[in-house]
Amino acid sequence: MQYIVLDLEWNQPYSKERAVRLASGRPLMSEIIQIGAVRVDGDKQIRDHFLSAVAPRFYRELHYKVRQLTGLSGRQLKKGPSLREAAEALRAWCGEDFAFVTWSNMDIPILLENLQLHGLDSSWVGAWYDLQQIFNAQTGSGSGQKSLSFALEQLQLPMDAPFHDALNDAYATARICQKLDIERGIREYYTRSFLPENQLHQDALGHQMSAYMTFSGPATREQLMREPSARLLFCPVCGRELEPESCEQTSEDASNVWTACPEHGRFLFKVRLKSMKRSQWCVAVAAYTEEEALKPDAPPPPKKRRRRRRSRGGKRGRGRGAKKVERAAEKAAERAVSPEGES
Ligand SMILES: [Zn+2]
Repeated sequence: MQYIVLDLEWNQPYSKERAVRLASGRPLMSEIIQIGAVRVDGDKQIRDHFLSAVAPRFYRELHYKVRQLTGLSGRQLKKGPSLREAAEALRAWCGEDFAFVTWSNMDIPILLENLQLHGLDSSWVGAWYDLQQIFNAQTGSGSGQKSLSFALEQLQLPMDAPFHDALNDAYATARICQKLDIERGIREYYTRSFLPENQLHQDALGHQMSAYMTFSGPATREQLMREPSARLLFCPVCGRELEPESCEQTSEDASNVWTACPEHGRFLFKVRLKSMKRSQWCVAVAAYTEEEALKPDAPPPPKKRRRRRRSRGGKRGRGRGAKKVERAAEKAAERAVSPEGES
C-alpha cells in the first residue's frame, strides 16, 4: 500500500452572496488553484512528488488573502492547466493501490466537490485519512485542529520551506507521516461507539432493542460505502463478528440484516447510513433479538413507520425520547472522531 500525501490550495469568493452555486444549492466556497502531492511507500520512504497549478474557472481573481498566503497570482494561474488536465495528471501519477493522506478533513471533500462541479470522474479518489486525527491520537494532543507548524515543532521536525505552497505542505505532511505509525493509525481511524449498557434501548417507535451502535468518520457517503469495517456486524452480547444470513435493502440508505451468533441466537440488525454535521457520515445499527424483532407489533419497514408515527399522536412522546437516545450515541461518536472538536 502506498500513501499519496495530498495538499490543495484553493481560492475563495469575496462573499457567500457573490459565490457560484453548486447543484446542491450550496455556495462554492473553495476553487482549487494548486495541487501538491508526495508519494510515501509502505516502508514510509518518500518516493516522488507531483505539483500542478490549476487555472480557476469561476473565481479568476484571487482573493487578497489567498494571494497573500500562497504568493500566487490570477494572471500566473490563467496560463496553467485546467482542473480536468491537472486531475487527469494526478490520477495517472497516483497509480493503482493507494490511499490519500491529508493534513485536514477538507482537502478531499473539496477535491470531490470540484471534480463533480466540472463533471469529472471522481470514482478513483478512494480511501483517505486526515493525518491530524492520527497525530492527535498518537501524540496525546487532544482533539482540536492543529496547524502543520505545530505538528512539525511537536515532532522536532524542521520546516525549511514556506507554508501554503501545496508541495511544501505535502512534504511537511509526509515527514509527519514518517514519524507516526500510519498503519496503526488507519486501523484505528474510525470509531465504533455503543449506547451505554445501562440505558434503556428503544427505537423510534418505542420497541425494545438489544443494542444501538454507530460507526462514523468518513466525510462522504462513497467513502463510507468503501470502508470494509463499516459493514462489520457484532453480536450485541459477546461482541463476536457475525456473518450476514440475509439482507433486505429497504431504501437507498437502509437495510435489514439477519445474522446468528452460535452462542446467543439470531439477531436482526437495522442498518442505516446517515449524514451528520461537519461532513461526516455514519452507519447507525439497531440490533434486535429474534424475539424483539418478531413481536406482533414489531415495527413495519422504515417508510411506513415514518408515516404511522406522524399520524399516531400517542407514539410521538416515546419516539422523541428514543430519538434523543440515538442522538446521544451519535454525538458520542462525533466527539470521538471529530478533528475540529471544540476543546
Ligand atoms: Zn454472541
